[in-house]
Amino acid sequence: MNCLFCKIIAGDIPSTKVYEDELVYAFRDINPQAPTHILVIPKAHIESVNAVSADNSSIVAHIFEVIAKIAREEGLENGYRVVSNCGDHAGQTVHHLHFHILGGAELNTQM
Ligand code: AMP
Ligand code: ZN
Repeated sequence: MNCLFCKIIAGDIPSTKVYEDELVYAFRDINPQAPTHILVIPKAHIESVNAVSADNSSIVAHIFEVIAKIAREEGLENGYRVVSNCGDHAGQTVHHLHFHILGGAELNTQM
């Protein structure tokens, strides 16, 4: 499958790993928009939030447990933002579900 994030999970494209388990992979964004900018992705190829269903939503629940763990380990005790862009109007560029963790400074409040 011609998916950038599937290739990152497979190790065919290098990434800076932050966390990994049997379901989830997390790595540093190559073009950080905040001092800490991490992407958390399911190992299973899920296109976007639109493709979340009863069959795979347990993976998404697990991703949020991992997000909280990563935030603690990265020292984001002053807060952080979790973002998932879905579709063209949101500017989704990689069509493999991913959650951005943004933190390490006070973030712009604009959406
Ligand atoms: P989105 O615009 O929400 O689809 O987010 C895609 C994100 O993937 C962007 O923030 C990119 O900077 C990031 N990205 C693209 N290629 C890579 C890569 N090879 N390694 C790490 N992050 C990447
Ligand atoms: Zn994929």
